[in-house]
Order: sequence, then structure tokens, then C-alpha cells
Amino acid sequence: MQQPTETLVRRLAQAAIIGASLAPALVYLATGYSGARQLVLDDANTQRIRATSVISQGPDTWMYVSERLADQIEQVRHKSSHTEIIDAQGVMVLELGQECDTSACISESAPLLDFGKRVGTLTVKFDLTPMLSLALAIGLGGLAIGILLLSLLDRHVIRRLEKIREANLELAFYDPLTGLPNRRLLLDRLDHAVVASKRSGEYGAVMILDLDNFKVLNDSQGHDAGDRLLIAVGQRIRLFLRQEDTVSRLGGDEFVIIVESLGGSETYAAARAEAVAEKIRRSFVQPFAVSSAADAYHTTPSIGVTLFRGTDVSIDALLKQADVALYQAKDAGRDSIRFFNPEMQAAIDYRANLEMALRKGLEQGEFQLYYQPKVDVDGAITGAEALLRWRPRGRPQVSPAHFIPLAEESGLIVQIGNWVLDTACAQLKSWESGPFGHLTISINVSTRQFMQDDFVDQICRSILKHNINPARLQLELTESVVADKIDLIIDRMQRIRRLGIGFSLDDFGTGYSSLTYLKKLPLDLIKIDQSFVRDLMTDPNDAAIVTAIIAMSRSLGFDVIAEGVETESQRDFLKESGCLNYQGYLFGKPMPIGEFVQQALQRQTPSAPLSTTGKRVQERRPCTVNDKGL
Ligand code: C2E
Ligand code: CA
Ligand code: CA
Repeated sequence: MQQPTETLVRRLAQAAIIGASLAPALVYLATGYSGARQLVLDDANTQRIRATSVISQGPDTWMYVSERLADQIEQVRHKSSHTEIIDAQGVMVLELGQECDTSACISESAPLLDFGKRVGTLTVKFDLTPMLSLALAIGLGGLAIGILLLSLLDRHVIRRLEKIREANLELAFYDPLTGLPNRRLLLDRLDHAVVASKRSGEYGAVMILDLDNFKVLNDSQGHDAGDRLLIAVGQRIRLFLRQEDTVSRLGGDEFVIIVESLGGSETYAAARAEAVAEKIRRSFVQPFAVSSAADAYHTTPSIGVTLFRGTDVSIDALLKQADVALYQAKDAGRDSIRFFNPEMQAAIDYRANLEMALRKGLEQGEFQLYYQPKVDVDGAITGAEALLRWRPRGRPQVSPAHFIPLAEESGLIVQIGNWVLDTACAQLKSWESGPFGHLTISINVSTRQFMQDDFVDQICRSILKHNINPARLQLELTESVVADKIDLIIDRMQRIRRLGIGFSLDDFGTGYSSLTYLKKLPLDLIKIDQSFVRDLMTDPNDAAIVTAIIAMSRSLGFDVIAEGVETESQRDFLKESGCLNYQGYLFGKPMPIGEFVQQALQRQTPSAPLSTTGKRVQERRPCTVNDKGL
């Protein structure tokens, strides 16, 4: 289809070329006609004068004068003109020159007078036929040249314009690798499909197909092979779709398929969509040729499907639904198809609301740090782990196990983490000169927070801001933090450690740290995960693991602490195995700072008056520390 600009350019060029090619003929006609007209006028005038002089010398009979008239007129007559003299009775008395067709003639008549009496009429005609023929020839010649120019223009200019436009269109709407519609065109098509489904009352389906283990191919056989696979997959999917259906590539190894007109019944539509998805899935049994050297490549797809009818659900939401279903398919072990259902929607809504509330909670100071004591073998408190609590206004407290993963995903963990760091530093400062000056506070640092480029700066800023002894601060990292990019992690840990801050490896035993990694990490403390401590007394396996962790930590030169210690017998077992630090309900649950201070005082000096201990932490906005105790 031509664009308005091209049409305009083409029309203008055509008009200009046709105009230019016909111009000579038109100019020739215009000048020729006015020249001829002038000539006829002049001719008629001079001939009339000559004729009048002849007539006055002998007007009696036309027969007598006609010969002399002819001589006189012939001398002044233009050779292309035709002269007639008609007497008063209407009889032609003289005719000079060639006959001319009146329709192509211009003529001028003048009365012939003899002593004031009209004796005849002189008419001079000029035949325009030769001029018209020449004008026609010039016009046709011009037109031929014009047509030639037009075709040249068409070939070189308009085609080039069209090609540029087509290339731009390709780039704007099509994925350059597979030639399939890109996200932009997909959104447009989906928009149309949704509107059409509202009109027709028929269901449609959106499917997201993702290749399982695509990364493996890319890594093992290179990106060229990966590209060839993507092209081949696009072509294969197309085989199972109707002309009006769409398959597009969203980027990476994700393809989105829109299938329309699946009928007005939801069950039937789901069955048909499932059939299409299943055909596509099964077609992957046939391998793909991705490189000439290697054998054909086998891969499998995971497909998430959602149905739509009408415009109630936004395009964005539809794609999200299909994406959620895709993840269900991946979770189901890949090479499978999953449909989005309302329960999934509820889960999405719940998460979206929770994230919003979390953001608001951070702004409105709904977070609080609880402190759980860490004790040594004598039961003396050596420090506290700061654990985050969130109490949304008017609602029950939400467990960090619940909101921390979401905060991680949404990125809010960075702000939350900074708040925790700052609040813990403020707490350390307030303890500095009191009876708790020797206590440490450990804070939990999530992967995303630790991986922030400015994480080390953030730590420095907080330490300087509160002017605390960095040795009193400890960071707890889980094995998942240190699982990836080990060199970067070690470098960052060392930089932080040089500030004087210690590191604990949290939840130890639940991840998969290899001994080689463990040896390299600049750690101070290993925290035995509470899942092993819980069943220590009943499960010999857990007991064996705990004993092994303690022995290993000691031989690597790390301190070891057991968390989740709830009973005396657990503590005794741990002590006998060589673990001399504990944390758990047996020694105190996580509690608000006031309560913590109170308990710590009782443990230290049970009789000490409450009012002389610790200092209240200054409330900070946007988040506050709720320390009712002091
Ligand atoms: P975690 O770091 O392993 O924290 C220990 C969890 O065990 C805490 O749960 C604590 O209340 C609980 N606990 C302590 N002693 C016992 C016991 O004797 N028995 C039992 N059953 N549980 C015990 P909590 O406070 O619910 O925190 C859960 C997780 O949330 C934490 O696990 C940590 O991973 C995360 N978290 C908490 N605060 C923060 C924070 O400020 N930042 C980050 N990134 N994560 C945090
Ligand atoms: Ca922890
Ligand atoms: Ca832990």
C-alpha cells in the first residue's frame, strides 16, 4: 500500500512531467493562433484597401475587375491564406488560395464599398490545420518523452522511496531475525483481536511459547545456531496456524501466538486452543537443523495459554496472564501446556496489592525492627539479629518470609534494606556508651541489595553518619547470595570487611556451597540452619549434619552459631558437639527494642533499674523504630 507522501510525490511528479512535456505544444498553439489571427486581420485589411481601389476604377462589372482584383490581392495575400470576394448578390466573384475546412479556420470579413455603397464582401481565411497537426506532433512527442521520464522516475525515485518505506516498516513492526511481527505489531493485532472478539462474541486465545533450555544451545553451539533455531521455530509454529492467526517474537526465545474465532463457548474455546498448542508442542518432536556441522537439534517448548472475549481484560493483563500460565508450564517440568485460571489471577492481584501496600508502608513508617538475642555458652547475650516487621495500618503483621521475596522482586528491598541498615546503625550508636556497648547487631542482606553497585558506599555512609564502631555491625548473607558471580562477591565482601564489618553465612546447609567456595569466602561466622536444629534430637541424619557442619566450620576457622534453638536438650547437644553460640526461642524471640533491652538487662544485672539502661533510638521518618520499652 502506498503512503500519502509517496502518492503526493508521485502525483506531483506526474503533473510536472506531463505539464512540462505538453508545454511546447501548448506554447506553439497559443503563439501560432495569435500570430495567425494577426495575420488574417492584417491580410483582410490590406486586401480590402487594394480591392477597394480596384473596384472604384471600374465597378460596373465584376467580370471586368476580377482579374485585376486578383492581381492586386495576390501581391499582398499571405500564401497560406484563402481570400474570397462575394458580391452584393451573394455570388462568389473571386477566390484565391486553397480551400480550407471552416472548422479549422480563422476568418476575417470586411465589406467592400464603392463610393460608400456596399458592393461585396471580402473574406480572408487562414487554415489552421497544418499548425494543429504540428502542435499535435509536438504534443505527442512531448508526451512520449514525459512517459519515458515518468517510468524512469517510477523506477528510480518512487520505487526507492517505497523500498525505504518498506524497510522502515519492517524494522518498526517486524523482528529482523525471524521476520515475524514484533511486540509493537503484536500489541496492535491483539488490540484488534480483542475488539473483534467483543463484536463477534467469540473467544480468542493468547499463548506464550518459550523454548526450554534455549540458553544451553546458545552457550554450547554459539549464537548463530541459536538464531537459526529461533527462525526455524517461528516457521514451524506458523505451520499450525491459520492465515488470520498471528505468531510474533517478543524477543529472546519467547513467541506469542494469537488465535482468534474459537467460538462462543469457553469450554469449547479452551479445547480448541489446547489442540492448537498441543499440535505445536508435539511438532517439536521433529528436530531442528541449526548448524550444518552438528546433528539436528532437539528442543521442547513450554506454552502458557489464556483466553479472551471482549475488552474487559487489558492487553497488558492478558499477556501477564499468559506469562503466569507459562511459568506454571515451566514449573510443571517443561515441555507442557498450562492455562491461566482465576486462582492465578487472584494470586497476581494479591501480589500487586501487597507490593503497593509495601511501598506505602515504607513511606508511612509501618516498618519496625525486632531484635532477637544471640547468646554464648554461658547464656550471656553477645548481640542481636535485627529482624524486620511490617504492620500495615489496621491490618495484622505480615511475616518477612512473605514480603521479603516480593520486595526482592519489585526492587523495593533496596530501600527497605537501607532503612534496616540505617536503623541498626542508629541503634548501635545509642548503645555505644551504655551497658550494651559490646553487643553486635547483625542485619540480613538480600541478594539484590548486596548486588547494588553502591552497596559498599551505602554501608560507609551509614557508618559515617552514625559514627559507630563498624566491628559491632555484622551482615548476614545466605548461600544464595554467594552462589553466583563468586569473584565479584568475594571482592565486595573483602572491601566491606576491611571496614571492620563481619560476615555470617545464614541458613547454612540449605543451599549448596561447595567447600572450595566456602574456603575462599571472607566469613566470620556460619549459622546452622534451624531446619537441622529443629529435629536434632529425633532425626539422626540432622544430628550428623549438624555435627559435620560444626567440625567443618572449626577446621576452616569460622565461628559457628545454631539458630532455631528451642530446647535445653538441643542446646546441650550443640554444646557437646562444639557449637558455643546460640539463637532461638529458648533465649528469646525477636522482640521490639524496648523489650530486648529489658531482657538483656535482666540477664546482665537482674536488679538494675530500667531507667538507667540504653537510650531510646530517635524516630526517623519515613520509617520508625517502635521501642516502647524505654
Ligand atoms: P532468617 O534470617 O533465617 O531469620 C531467622 C528466622 O527464624 C526469623 O524469622 C526468626 O523469627 C526465626 N526464629 C528465630 N528463632 C527461632 C526458633 O527458635 N524457632 C523458630 N521456629 N523460628 C525462629 P522471621 O523474623 O520471620 O524472618 C524470616 C526471614 O525473613 C529471615 O530469616 C530473613 O531471611 C528474612 N528477613 C527478616 N528480616 C530481614 C531484613 O531486614 N532484610 C532481609 N533481606 N531479610 C530479612
Ligand atoms: Ca538471618
Ligand atoms: Ca537463618
